[in-house]
Amino acid sequence: MTDSNQTIAKFQGPFGNSSEIKRRTFSGSQKKDGLRVSIVAGLHGNEYDGIYICNLLTQRLLRHKEQGSIIGEINIYPVANPEAVMAGERSAPYFAEDFNRQFGPNASQTLNGQLAQALFEDIQKRSDFAFDIHASNLHLAELPQIRILEKHQKRLVPLGQMCNTDILWVHPLGPVYESTLAYNLNGKGIPTLVIETGICLRINQEYCFQILQGLLNFLREIGCLRQQENTSVMKIPQTLNPNQVVIIQASKAGLFVPRIALGKKVQSGDWIGELIDPLSEQDPEPVFSPADGLLFTLRQHPLTRQGATLARIALAP
Ligand SMILES: [Zn+2]
Repeated sequence: MTDSNQTIAKFQGPFGNSSEIKRRTFSGSQKKDGLRVSIVAGLHGNEYDGIYICNLLTQRLLRHKEQGSIIGEINIYPVANPEAVMAGERSAPYFAEDFNRQFGPNASQTLNGQLAQALFEDIQKRSDFAFDIHASNLHLAELPQIRILEKHQKRLVPLGQMCNTDILWVHPLGPVYESTLAYNLNGKGIPTLVIETGICLRINQEYCFQILQGLLNFLREIGCLRQQENTSVMKIPQTLNPNQVVIIQASKAGLFVPRIALGKKVQSGDWIGELIDPLSEQDPEPVFSPADGLLFTLRQHPLTRQGATLARIALAP
């Protein structure tokens, strides 16, 4: 049973500094019998939940290594975009390009594009399955969920059901997806699940532990880790088709103040929050749920413009 650290790509910064994209690999002694799973985090540098989940998983795999219970191969890429992570920004400052739009046949040949290519090739040659972990954006907090493109749902929904999230959101193809890591890995026949959880620039421990349990369960279910007695009970996620998601948008610009917690079951007419016009004496405008369901997205950044997303509800099945 081995545990190794590898540098996938290295590049020089402007002041003699250098950055490296690294992989940690845990291999079982019966590696030939087991499947290979890769877990990627930090494609967006201000999303820390995935990096933390990789750290928690590494701690657990060190124990599994001691117990001899790793069967396949597990590759962890905890910081896929190191310059952006160190800057605490979505994209690395001097590249100023979204690293998760650098994949696929039309990718650019810039340094950023070359780094993405090196990462992609490394994952491709050592994965039967992959996970790409994200932590939303500056505005919206998300309940642990897996996002699945409609065209891949047949293959990915059964895999997503093993991962202890609250939601599997099946959605149509949009123009940005074709240059993402997950789209291109799925295109190469490597089933890849995109996890969204929490909100960027924060760590939500509860959600991170929930996803850790999901990843460990997935590794056990596919035979990468030996099954244990007394494993915890997994959540059965609600699978959402595009027409089962209701988006609540701001009717006007202002400051949004939530009045409910993320993850609550709501009924039509329940109070979600209020919109405040900070320069007027008018009463705040209440925001109500238009439907019964699960509140799985909730705005955290107060500043809104007309049409901004305030919340999303998964319609009750
Ligand atoms: Zn992201």
